[in-house]
Amino acid sequence: MNTKILVLGGGTGGTLVANLLAKKLKGAADITLVSALSRHLYQPGWLYVPFGWQDPRTLSRSLKSLLNKRINLEIGKAAALNPDTQIVTLEDGSALGYDYLVLATGSRVTPEDVPGLAEGGYHFYTEEAAWRLHAALEEFQGGKIVVGVGGLPHKCPVAPLEFTFLLDEYLTRRGIREQSEIVYTYPINRVFSIESVADVAAPLLEERKVRAETFFNLESVDPHKKMAYSLEGTELPYDLLVMIPPHRGAKFLENNPVADAQGWVKTERETLQVKGYPHIYALGDTTDLPISKAGSTAHFEAPVIAERIAASLEGRQPDPKHATYDGKVMCFLEAGYNKASILNFDYNTPPTPPAPNAFIHYEKMAFNKAYWYLVPTGML
Ligand SMILES: Cc1cc2nc3c(=O)[nH]c(=O)nc-3n(C[C@H](O)[C@H](O)[C@H](O)COP(=O)(O)OP(=O)(O)OC[C@H]3O[C@@H](n4cnc5c(N)ncnc54)[C@H](O)[C@@H]3O)c2cc1C
Repeated sequence: MNTKILVLGGGTGGTLVANLLAKKLKGAADITLVSALSRHLYQPGWLYVPFGWQDPRTLSRSLKSLLNKRINLEIGKAAALNPDTQIVTLEDGSALGYDYLVLATGSRVTPEDVPGLAEGGYHFYTEEAAWRLHAALEEFQGGKIVVGVGGLPHKCPVAPLEFTFLLDEYLTRRGIREQSEIVYTYPINRVFSIESVADVAAPLLEERKVRAETFFNLESVDPHKKMAYSLEGTELPYDLLVMIPPHRGAKFLENNPVADAQGWVKTERETLQVKGYPHIYALGDTTDLPISKAGSTAHFEAPVIAERIAASLEGRQPDPKHATYDGKVMCFLEAGYNKASILNFDYNTPPTPPAPNAFIHYEKMAFNKAYWYLVPTGML
């Protein structure tokens, strides 16, 4: 009987790892990918949807169309994992056994973790939410917009900053920037978790006349009074609240032996094996690794998992070139007005972002289009 490889999640990490395995193993194992959605979503594009600069319908494709023909695709939601019996149960009750399991179920937003946030706040971290925010922004005629981070960790750490810079541009283009105040909140004592990025972003915020409210850990929102409250005792009135909700891992992972109470999977930082379960791997947002939850993270992690599983199946040592994840991440940082910077870093080397320029912005625009051909397929 063929070895069974089960991949959970059809986003950036799951699609790529399944395709890399199919190419490497050429039928020597049965690969099944289970995903809750039949579409693959390009989430970075949601950043532009609130401003009407991107049609959300162009940001998803059929997952099947992105998968190697050797991969069995099942659409269904994992409801339970027993890592000892090696069985995953789906919501419809069907049970799937595996020899190797790859967890790539990403992260989910949980606005319900903050009282009043679901009713009082907007965000752009789901397709629906980005579109809803677009409608709210189109109606906005001036006033106070509070943009912030409602909990750490969250995916795409730079997106709230990017949104703020693009919001300044959007309001300026609409001719209502003078009648608007933008406040940016962040939970720690600077405007971004990584100091070198905060050093570049803080003066840019100042230049754009955005007031930064640091040490703002969102405690609750009063949608009727239109107030946001922090644990530190700050009270912020708003006309429009754009707050990135807290995140968790997939529901079925919360409190599972492989994960913590928030559903973040306990992952070895270099091999990407799940702690205590060497036949289970994790990549992308779902890990508890001390590195950005970003598509590029999943992109750089996938070859490590594919090589390790292939080597184990073939009874050889993994190729040292691909056997270790060094924490590599690459993120663009949109700064508005057709300029962007870029962050390259890993576990040991912090980023040194260059001053925003047009070249990097157009690189990002090109990447947004090329993603479909390069990333999930494993071409890049
Ligand atoms: C607004 C925004 C902008 C961003 N910009 C960037 C950027 O510029 N650069 C960058 O690198 N990253 C960016 N990201 C982050 C990036 O999109 C994610 O980090 C990336 O998609 C993570 O990949 P993943 O495979 O771990 O999870 P996902 O791509 O989220 O995929 C998770 C998959 O698991 C499936 N799933 C979930 N639960 C279950 C379950 N119980 N059973 C079965 N399937 C399940 C989902 O349907 C989905 O297919 C951005 C994100 C947002 C929201």
